[in-house]
This record gives sequence, structure tokens and C-alpha cells, in this order.
Amino acid sequence: MLGYYAKNTRKLQARWNDIFLHLRSWTTFRGFNIVKKNTCAGDVMSKKITRRHFIKASTRLAATAGLGGCGLLLKGCRSKADFDIVIKNGVLYDGRGGEAFSADIGISGSQILEIGKIPHLRGNTVLDAGGRNVCPGFIDVHDHTDIGLLVNPKAESTVRQGITTVISGNCGASPFPVPEAVFEERKESLREQYQIDMDWRDIEGFFSRLSEQGMAVNYATLVGQGTIRGAVMGFNDRPPRGEEIETMKRLVVENIHSGALGLSSGLEYAPGSFALPDEITELCRAAAESGGVYATHMRDEGDFLLESLRETIAVARSTGVRLQISHFKVAYPRNWSKIDEALAAVESADRNGISIFCDRYPYIAGSTGLSFNFPLWARQGTTEEFLHRLLDPGQERGLRGYVEERKAKLGDWGKVVIASVVTEKNRRFEGRSVQEAMEMTGKDAFTLMRDLLVEEKNRVGMVIFMMREENLKRILSHPLVGIGCDGSALAPYGPLGRGKPHPRHYGSFPRVLGKYIRDEKILPLPEMVKKMTSIPAGNFGFEGRGVLEVGGEADIVIWDERRVADKATWKDPHQYPEGIDFVIVNGRVVIREGVHSGELPGRILKHKSARS
Ligand SMILES: [Zn+2]
Repeated sequence: MLGYYAKNTRKLQARWNDIFLHLRSWTTFRGFNIVKKNTCAGDVMSKKITRRHFIKASTRLAATAGLGGCGLLLKGCRSKADFDIVIKNGVLYDGRGGEAFSADIGISGSQILEIGKIPHLRGNTVLDAGGRNVCPGFIDVHDHTDIGLLVNPKAESTVRQGITTVISGNCGASPFPVPEAVFEERKESLREQYQIDMDWRDIEGFFSRLSEQGMAVNYATLVGQGTIRGAVMGFNDRPPRGEEIETMKRLVVENIHSGALGLSSGLEYAPGSFALPDEITELCRAAAESGGVYATHMRDEGDFLLESLRETIAVARSTGVRLQISHFKVAYPRNWSKIDEALAAVESADRNGISIFCDRYPYIAGSTGLSFNFPLWARQGTTEEFLHRLLDPGQERGLRGYVEERKAKLGDWGKVVIASVVTEKNRRFEGRSVQEAMEMTGKDAFTLMRDLLVEEKNRVGMVIFMMREENLKRILSHPLVGIGCDGSALAPYGPLGRGKPHPRHYGSFPRVLGKYIRDEKILPLPEMVKKMTSIPAGNFGFEGRGVLEVGGEADIVIWDERRVADKATWKDPHQYPEGIDFVIVNGRVVIREGVHSGELPGRILKHKSARS
């Protein structure tokens, strides 16, 4: 029988090629080096099929399945493959910081089942890494993606950076719990901006909404201290009463038990900033007792950076909470020389047994709301109250004084760029500096920003240049600093493609790998990969992620060290990076040769106390 089979290979090969053509119409076959083996076609589906390969493959199949017709052969072939995906010819950085090694990876379902030398035929889908780097998927430890996943679950700007897990809910703000007082206002705002119908009020509701819809990346979140304070006490600057602090502590604990990884604070924003250190300490103690972390955007990152660091470290010392300092920076030229003392404070805390880690994005500009240029006392209360104060002639002197002080810190208004507005009317200001907008309108800085905030109902984003390149490199290369985009999932199309957002949304991880590691060599690559993968996985309790190991979850990125580069710029930020060629999330290929497959295999990664 086998002799007959071999003699007729040419005829059969032609028949297989017919089948192949037919199959191609429904497979998602893309790119020359993907061999989609979801049928017996196996090598036949590769354009590079040779007669020798065909004979070898078909003989083997015939021997196992017999010549019982195409259907049987197809069935026999499927059962032969040991893996859903085999990644061939990769240079592996396993995430633990050691040197790279050459190996193949076999994946079945969402798990890595083998690392070593694996023959092609053992995979249903074979991805040829062709000598490119293969790493655990990157973990973005400081992210703000939440609503964005509902707007566009493909998480384009995130997953295309090689990020497979985001930790959201940072800077004191989470999309839950939603206080009754602002539910309607927020619902209306989301409907207006994104046509989203907000139907959740708490973490469970938000998780169910996300799971129903699906998402391309894994999502984990913190619960925001500012959000909790707003829900319990409103938006005012006063200390909590006894029962209010108890309610806030209860909410911290409940949210962690429902899946939040811990607590975040944004102490430069209202209403979180109204909490004095004692109140933060109480909440952190509750978080620590529940096994949660504390991620903080500190009270000040410029003139009072060192004082803020002391306050933060004291909270961790007295509560034992694991600390994550958000977007570690030294803001404004007059403070840049404080970098030595700031890093020394972090190192000393680490030496003294405090669990401390920081994150940073690889740019010298930050990004936040334009309202940041107005004092905290003016920002307290609701949006309406804030806008009312901006227009109150009795407050103008104080407000102008603060705005002038901001200019003195920055140097000039060219350092502040208007990133996004909501109305068409003000679209012309997007991507313009405040200086340019002043020239366009003939207004002074205070009047310009006040009018914009009032017209846009406080929905104005800005980019602000306030850091030094030399400090950035020291921070990025520091062993206690991971990478966090401090952005959210955007896309160059649809409602997430508006405005001129900070390029960190698209470029952070590729920029670190290309500009800072390959070109400027600020740190050996294995150490940076470790900071992007296993360290955050350990800090946030993601078991089986952040390393390439047998039995681990298959979150994997394949990238080209020669080509990797961020393409997003200040003027043209909605651009995907280059060189991040394949991204696998939970064993499914989301990015293949730079193209999004549309797959949504992301999961919600919950705190261990919430896992059933
Ligand atoms: Zn922040």
C-alpha cells in the first residue's frame, strides 16, 4: 500500500494543493512564515513545500491513518500534533534575567508545554521566529486602560507594544465604585464621548461587563483611593468622620476580595489629595492586611519630591504594605539635581526591608489634565464647582498667581501642549502648545486655559515637558524601576484615535527596547526584560506569568531586536511601533507579523483572595 502511495505522490500532491487552496479561503493564513496546520495539509499549506517534504509527511500520515479518504486523513493528522502552536527558532529571554538561549516553544491551550527542540510536525500552527527574540509578554505595571477596553476591546496600542497584561486603576482613579451622586453625570459623559452605556456601579459589575465583551490583553486593576473617597465623602477638602474612614477601609477590603490587586492613590488630584497621611496609612493598613499592594502617585514630584518620598515610605514602614511608586520622576529644572537623594531614599527603604518598586515611562514629558495648572483648592468639588470658581472674579487673583508660578517652574508655555479636547470647536488647539494657542487667540495663558476648560467642561488633556533626559536614563536603568506606560489602550481609528495624546500610549515598551537598550545601552537586555516581566509578575502575584517556563501561561512576544522602534511622535502620536511581530496572549495569537488577528483571549487577573 505504501509503495502505491509513494508512486502516486505527484497526483496526490496536486490534490492536496487543491485542498490547500480551498482551505486558505477560510483559514486566517497570513505571512510567508506561518504554517497553519489545522488540517492534514501541514507542510502542504506552506508555499515552500518540496516534493521530499510532501512524500515524508504523506507517507507518515498514510501509515497512521490509512487511505480511508480525505476525512480520515484529516482526522488522523489533527491527532498527531502535540501542540496548538510551536514557536520555532527563537532566541529566548525567559524573563529571569539570564542570558538568552536558542529553543522552540510548544503551546497547547493557554499553556507552555515544552521548551527545547521541537519538530515542525508537532504543531498545528508553526510560527517561525527566525532568530528573533522571544520573551514573556510584557506587563505594564502602570496603566489607565479600563473604559478604553469597552470602546475597543482589541487594545491596539497596548498589545502592539508586546504588552499582554495591564495593571489599571492607577493614580487614585478606578471605574468603580461609582457613587450615586455622579452616576448619571458619568453615564451621560461616557455616552456622549464613546456611545457606551454605563451599567456598572462596582468592581463585580465592571468585571462582568469586561468579560462579556472580551479583550485582547489580560486586565488587572487596583481600586482608586480618590474614587473611594469621592464615593464616601464627596469631593471636599475635610478629614473623614469616624464612620467614613471605616466605610472607606471596608471598601478597600471588599474590592481586594472581589479581585482588585490593591489600592492606588493620586495625591496631586482632587479628591484623593485631601487625605492626610494618617488617612492614607489607615487605608494602606487595610490593604496590607488583605494582601494588597499600594501604588501611589505621590503628593508632589517636584519642589516637595523628597518630602513626598519620606511620607510614602513612612506609610509602607508602618503598615507593611508593598509599595509601587508611580511614574517616578523629578519634575521641573530647578529640582533636577534631587535625583541622587530621591534614588537613595528608594534604595535605603529597599535595604531596610520595605517592599518597594517604582515605574516609569520612557519620555521626558508627562501627561495629565490641563486643570493640573490650577490649584488644588480650586479643583475640589464637582466639575461644575471647579468651573464656577474659574469664572469667579473674586478668585481670579489667586488663580492667576498659581498659573504664573507654574510658568516660573516650567520656563515658558511652550512646554505645555494641549493634547485633546472634546468639542470640534476647539479641535484646532490639539497638538499646539499653550504658547502657540496664546498667539492664535491673543489671550494670556490664564484666560486661554480657563476658557478652554470651561468650554470643554474640564475635559482637556495636556502634555507637559518637565523632566531631564539624563535623569530618565538613570531611572529606567535602576533595578527597582519597572516600565509603566501611564497610558491606555488607544487606536488610530474610531473614538480612541482622537487628539494628540502622549506618544507613551503607543511607544513605551518598544522605545525602551530600541532607543534605550539597543541604541544607548543603558542596561543589558536580559535585565530590562526581567523588569518588564518576572519582577512585576512577582510583585502583583501573577502566578505562571512573566517567565517562559513549562507549565506557565503562554503570554509571549516575539520581536526583532534590529527593527524594534517606537514610531509615535508628539505631533503624530497615533502610530504603532515597529518590530513587535507576534504577540500571544493565553496561547492565542493576537498579533501576527504586525497584524491584529481580532482575537480577544485576555482574562481578568484577580487578586488571589478572589480566585475561586
Ligand atoms: Zn499619576
